[in-house]
Amino acid sequence: RVKATKKGSILFYDDSVSEQIKYRMTVEDELVRVIKRDEMYICYQPQIDLKTNKLYGVEALARWKNEKLGFVSPETFISIAEEIGLIHSLGFYLFRKACEGLIEKFPNGKEAIALSFNVSPLQIFDPSFGMSLVQMCQEIGIDTDRITLEVTENIPISDLKNIQPYLTELREAGFGLSLDDFGTGYSSLSYINNLPLTEIKIDRAFVNQFLENHQTEMLVRMILGIGQSCGTRVVSEGVETIEELNKLTDMGCDLAQGYYFDAPIRIEELAKKCSENMEYGSPQALTRYSIK
Ligand code: C2E
Ligand code: MG
Ligand code: MG
Ligand code: MG
Repeated sequence: RVKATKKGSILFYDDSVSEQIKYRMTVEDELVRVIKRDEMYICYQPQIDLKTNKLYGVEALARWKNEKLGFVSPETFISIAEEIGLIHSLGFYLFRKACEGLIEKFPNGKEAIALSFNVSPLQIFDPSFGMSLVQMCQEIGIDTDRITLEVTENIPISDLKNIQPYLTELREAGFGLSLDDFGTGYSSLSYINNLPLTEIKIDRAFVNQFLENHQTEMLVRMILGIGQSCGTRVVSEGVETIEELNKLTDMGCDLAQGYYFDAPIRIEELAKKCSENMEYGSPQALTRYSIK
């Protein structure tokens, strides 16, 4: 009946406004207790290197299942956490979880795989964020250069103008930096060129359309070109079919993730697949990626 939209506002089919407000208040109420109750967990979505068809790394995606609310989508709880000022503590809580979960199954060294973690622009603009993050990595014992921080391109242009020094500090601390949801935001090439990015991610809205729509195909080509001239790798998100995958590979895309390979899964499941060196999925896709 009540459905959360992308921005965290609530959409109604047949409910009254007061019920809408009640839902939102319940989410806030439950959200402030999340860390104490340790109610969230991380799923990891494999990212595949399209040159080798091997597992390159994973993107950590937060999951929340609450007794009263059931599953709440990250788009809903992240934007509410941002609004009520909870994103800072929640962000650290999730970052620690993501790193600890990964490092337990994939320690530093030969078998290490990369970790991508989404951060809110509000976190980036916190002056002590970089230092705290580095400290946390040292505590956990994970190298910062295994980690890429994803920041969405979909932020106000004024933020994009001011974000450069903060990103530079993070880059100098060793973190990789990815511009997420690329193509959906406002950044102009001159801003992007000034940012110390190591990666851009093509939004899945484009990936899902570019086979049918010539305009979108040109756009995807353009983004790949931008990646090439900026010296960043390009990741396609939301790859769901072999046709999309083949075309993106031909076009020179570096990495891909999406349901074609795997949904976001628990780290135990990924570790199991890796230890069995399983090439999993539909039979026609048996060679689509190997772990080692
Ligand atoms: P995002 O970083 O752009 O993540 C990609 C979203 O696409 C994820 O949704 C993922 O589950 C979904 N996805 C992956 N492959 C496919 C596919 O093949 N098809 C389709 N239709 N969808 C696919 P999810 O997990 O619901 O996350 C939504 C957004 O929430 C993320 O977008 C990210 O911006 C945010 N988010 C998630 N976890 C965190 C977190 O720990 N911190 C912060 N700040 N944001 C987070
Ligand atoms: Mg992301
Ligand atoms: Mg994205
Ligand atoms: Mg997205």
